Amino acid sequence: MTNEPAPTDCFVCGKHRDESLMPGGPVWHDELVVVSHLSPRAPGGSAAVYLGHMLVEPRRHAPGLADLTDAEAQRVGLWCTRAARRLREVGGAEHVYAAVIGDNVPHLHVHLLPRYPGTPREYWWERVDEWPDAPRGGESEAAALVARLSAAGR
Ligand SMILES: [Zn+2]
Repeated sequence: MTNEPAPTDCFVCGKHRDESLMPGGPVWHDELVVVSHLSPRAPGGSAAVYLGHMLVEPRRHAPGLADLTDAEAQRVGLWCTRAARRLREVGGAEHVYAAVIGDNVPHLHVHLLPRYPGTPREYWWERVDEWPDAPRGGESEAAALVARLSAAGR
């Protein structure tokens, strides 16, 4: 583990410093991890984001899973499970996908993508957010979902 200062050009570090870059603010957070909803202002984002697309991130600028401390790894796993549970119980997901890609922003962010009931089979997994009838929204719709999720507790 390094104690280098967070890079100023990292979108994830920037969003942890300026929570207005997270729709509705962080859904949950602790001293090691921040959970938020995808922002329309994220790199490569669109005005209408897939509702329920959550990100689980270590606070520390660690590029990938292999760079986490054991404590961070345990916490990232715990928050993935808690967030997935809330997406199912509160967000209406029938299933939650998890993925680490990291080709563009070198600060670990685990993507959690709900699959909603009725999603046609051809959209399962990596195309789940391309289903034309999938729920999408801007900052305010994402913030409303964040409020519902966080109100349900951890
Ligand atoms: Zn970073």
